[in-house]
Amino acid sequence: MPRSLEDPIKASQTTRFIGSFEGNKKGPTVIFFGGIHGNEPAGVQALEHVFSSLHKSELEINGAVFGIRGNIPALLQKKRFIEDDLNRIWSSEQIKQIEKKDRSNLRLEEIELLEIKDIITQILRTQSPPFYFIDFHTTSSKTLPFITINDALINRRFSQQFPVPIILGIEEYLEGPLLSRMNQLGYVSLGFESGQHDDPIAVENSIAFLWLTLVYTKVLDKEEVIDFDAYYHQLYTASEGNTNFYEVVHRQELKRNDAFSMLKGLESFQKVSEGTLLAIQNEEKIYAEKDTILFMPLYQRQGAEGFFLIRHTPNWALKTSAIIRKSKLDSLLTYLPGISWSDHEKQSLLVNLNVARFFTKSFFHLLGYRNRKVDETHILMHNRERTAKNKMYRKEAWY
Ligand SMILES: [Zn+2]
Repeated sequence: MPRSLEDPIKASQTTRFIGSFEGNKKGPTVIFFGGIHGNEPAGVQALEHVFSSLHKSELEINGAVFGIRGNIPALLQKKRFIEDDLNRIWSSEQIKQIEKKDRSNLRLEEIELLEIKDIITQILRTQSPPFYFIDFHTTSSKTLPFITINDALINRRFSQQFPVPIILGIEEYLEGPLLSRMNQLGYVSLGFESGQHDDPIAVENSIAFLWLTLVYTKVLDKEEVIDFDAYYHQLYTASEGNTNFYEVVHRQELKRNDAFSMLKGLESFQKVSEGTLLAIQNEEKIYAEKDTILFMPLYQRQGAEGFFLIRHTPNWALKTSAIIRKSKLDSLLTYLPGISWSDHEKQSLLVNLNVARFFTKSFFHLLGYRNRKVDETHILMHNRERTAKNKMYRKEAWY
């Protein structure tokens, strides 16, 4: 689909940069993404609003800020995606495949990916650290605003500053989200889900989140953002004071042609008791198997997840895992049968489940590993801590 540039409104909606701002003073580089899903315009609108305020103001910013528009063809059609989900094609293997392709054979979202990837590479090459990546989304169901992160300690610490709930480890259940790639490169990266798709509050929450981010990354001093307290309060109220950590324990997978309907009126973070009817998938009734917390129930046609279930992560578990990770005790694991390094850099463990069946998934989570099933008997455990660029962030106040 050619992008018409004749219509001025359309032209402004098809530029890759929503805004960019480079200060005179040295400082961090913050990269925001909006509209990676085309039916989620709240992030784009919030970025337009904040960049326009920055340009009108006399604020002196430190470092640089970029706002990047995600899936442009899908945004124009107000669809999640046109051919492929742009937030599911960022794994290293997928990118390699896409880069090998002849330009004329590229699918729509593959073109979007290559353009965005080039911009990121360019920014990383020309701007100064520390780097932060923030991706704005919204959900089809009602929800409290929340943050999703890959569970590396740098992400936990940075995210903890925002008065919203934090969901750990969702990437383990997803193939190729953009932020997982930024994480694998070692940078602080978080997703912010600001509310329901077309709810104006979702835009307000994203605006508040943007200003807080600019302060927490030290692009702006807190004193310069006059409404800082109001923005903080807005997020605190919208998330009903919930600043808990949660981890994902179940993903209800949908195949492309599955008939799926979620029971009406369910919300993200809603507690459901054992035996509650949640959804109907291909005429089969899906019940909650135990008391649990529902997360991101799907109320739209496009999407590969019907819903998730989450569990509250207690403070002691967070603290214990932080201590264990810092001590790097995991090096000892390879002395055990069935566990070996899968690479020279010692970033991934290959676990043979037939031999090392005494270890549970939560045990590896505690050590900072995310798992990927290789085949029926092997899982690959990738260590988030060993790839995290801790040195880059060590001097930051939040660290
Ligand atoms: Zn999304």
